[in-house]
Amino acid sequence: MRFDAAVMKRLRANLMKRGQALADGLADVLAGKHPPVLSLITGKPGMRPEEKLRAALDQIERRRTLIDADDDAFGRCDICKLDLGLAALDEMPWADRCAPHADQ
Ligand SMILES: [Zn+2]
Repeated sequence: MRFDAAVMKRLRANLMKRGQALADGLADVLAGKHPPVLSLITGKPGMRPEEKLRAALDQIERRRTLIDADDDAFGRCDICKLDLGLAALDEMPWADRCAPHADQ
C-alpha cells in the first residue's frame, strides 16, 4: 500500500461520509425532494437524479472494496493507472479517473 494505515483510515472515513450523504440524498429524491447533494455530482447527460446518485454510490462502493482489499488500484485512474496523489484523494477519496480520462 502506498499510504500508511492512518492515511488509509482517514480516506476510508471520508469515503464513507460521502457515501452516507449520497444515500441520504437518494432517500430524499425518492421522497420527491431535491437535496443539495445533487449539485455535487455530475453523472451523464440525461440521467435522472436517482440514477446519478446510484451511480455515485456504486463508485463509492467500488473504491471502498479496493481499500478493504488493500488493492493498489485504489487512488489510481481506472484507465491509465496514474497515481492520483494524496492531495486529490483527500479532497475526493472516491476519485477513479485522472483529469484526461474524467469523461470515460
Ligand atoms: Zn487516466
